[in-house]
Amino acid sequence: MHVRYSYLPQQFEAIDELLAQVKALVQSGDFTLGAALSRFEGEFAALIGTRFAIGVGSGTDAIKLSLVAAGVGRGDEVITAANTFIATAGAIHEIGATPVFVDCDESFCMDVGAVERRITPRTKAVVPVHYAGNMVNMPRLCALASANDLFVVEDACQAILADFEGRRAGTWGLAAAFSLHPLKNLNVWGDGGMIVTDDGDLAAKLRLLRNHGMANRDEIAMFGYNSRLDTLQAVVGSWLIGSADAITEKRIESASFYDREFAKIPQLRVPTRRKGCRSVFHLYMVFAQRRDELLAYCQKQGIEAKVHYPIPLYRQRGLAHLGYSLGDFPVADEQAASLITFPCDQHLSREERRYVVDTVAGFYGQ
Ligand SMILES: *Cc1c(COP(=O)(O)O)cnc(C)c1O
Repeated sequence: MHVRYSYLPQQFEAIDELLAQVKALVQSGDFTLGAALSRFEGEFAALIGTRFAIGVGSGTDAIKLSLVAAGVGRGDEVITAANTFIATAGAIHEIGATPVFVDCDESFCMDVGAVERRITPRTKAVVPVHYAGNMVNMPRLCALASANDLFVVEDACQAILADFEGRRAGTWGLAAAFSLHPLKNLNVWGDGGMIVTDDGDLAAKLRLLRNHGMANRDEIAMFGYNSRLDTLQAVVGSWLIGSADAITEKRIESASFYDREFAKIPQLRVPTRRKGCRSVFHLYMVFAQRRDELLAYCQKQGIEAKVHYPIPLYRQRGLAHLGYSLGDFPVADEQAASLITFPCDQHLSREERRYVVDTVAGFYGQ
């Protein structure tokens, strides 16, 4: 059996209605900041439960523009996770600020206790990453941030519809960034991102920043960026957003199945699932003995298992100038050496996930 990682061909199989909408858009010529974008922004804000949503060019830009709008820039320090995807740190670097890393915990998310120890007079913001679809302990982080006058910009790129004690990812910080990249839980046909916030002034500034700082055709209010969510992608996003809850439920259902079955295999360890935290399993990861051998075996048996990521971000060659070295973040290191990711998406069938479990059990001789 072949268990693929990417489900995009299935996701966009029955799209006649969508193609008709795309055709109408193309014929209208309403390509940039079009009506469909405003509509999608309204739908997105309603889904997350914020007052505003602003469509931008990517999840990376969503983080970047949010930090810029908050006044973060050159010379500032921004605390984030040592094990995140490069885009989080890249967005911080792009605006001239310095990413300052902290280790993660069992949830794959930042250890909030470690954040406190990294605060300096130059710290201006924290970017908690709701990694893998789990959530950072936001009540603790927000309390710490407000006690130290730090902005919180959530990197919710992997965590659409996740929640912590009933409150959604994206509703805790000053602003939050979502990605619509094809590999994310809610995706479009290319790059795209969304910023959500409840702050009207910030939202207005973000709308300027994404569109060259143009107040209107003739007036420039500030320097900005070219980072609009394409209207075409908004059409695709609107078409899919009604399925967001179903996508999430399906991922959680498959993850529960894996959790139950993998708990029976002594050479695997299922991470403790924090009570009161709803993970949306952007990545389904467990810790495995003889991980590299298991990975190779699964791949040979047709399962596109992966490792996110074999080298944690803080140890990447391109970030060496930040001055970190092996051992600075032992939890991230330990996880990088032992975690394995299995397909866990809304199109994964019962037979496929059963095959994954049987294959893993077979590898360990059970
Ligand atoms: C995908 C991702 C981003 C960036 O999103 P893009 O849309 O690819 O720019 C940022 N942070 C995390 C944690 C991500 O997974």
